Amino acid sequence: MGLIANQYHVAIAIDGPAASGKSTIARMLAKKLGLVMVNSGEMYRAVTWKILEAGIDPRDVSTIVKALGDMHLDCGINGCFSTIAIDGRLLRDELRSENVNRAVSVVSAIAAVRSRLVSLQREYLQTTSLVMEGRDIGSVVFPKTPYKIYVDASADVRAARRLAEGVTDSVVSRDQADSSRETAPLIVADGAVVLDNSHHTVDSAVEAALVILRGQGLRWSE
Ligand code: C5P
Repeated sequence: MGLIANQYHVAIAIDGPAASGKSTIARMLAKKLGLVMVNSGEMYRAVTWKILEAGIDPRDVSTIVKALGDMHLDCGINGCFSTIAIDGRLLRDELRSENVNRAVSVVSAIAAVRSRLVSLQREYLQTTSLVMEGRDIGSVVFPKTPYKIYVDASADVRAARRLAEGVTDSVVSRDQADSSRETAPLIVADGAVVLDNSHHTVDSAVEAALVILRGQGLRWSE
């Protein structure tokens, strides 16, 4: 499959709460449509990891803002996935640690962190068409894209998903923090269609997402 040729790069925005299954849907969509999948949560996790590594308190906003100015963030693409390196270190498994899970919503509420990462997220669109997943992709990063899906699932289903992954991650408190922050809170963006992923299989969720995108005007060759 591939997108029908378009003069401009296309952004598909997939937002939703933690463990709603949006990463899986975004990854499968990218694969089916031949696009790059950009995981914006990993960018917030990477900055959080670096802050913790430097021994900075995640609530110490002024020290974080200063440290951010000194950080070299390198956002790349490997195959059809985004990558992130900070100060020359490529980050992967460390992004999912319990310490990062606990602190990431605090660090990502800082306006200076968001504006630096939003610029980097927008830069991706200069090189490629993409599926980007996160919390504010349809509302802030690419508000003009017509292709927006908000993936939701019940709190029970989301907690059970994390448990099955063997990860300690309080999705409820992260969602609470992400939805109530002042800058770029998690919301259903204007024009986004909600996909309730509480009871879908992966295949049926991807099919449902493709139906939504077709309804939003996306065209691709099978
Ligand atoms: O998607 P993931 O659960 O890995 O995101 C980790 C955290 O990063 C979220 O709980 C949220 O605090 C932050 N985030 C954000 N905006 C995004 C993506 C993630 O604030 N676009």
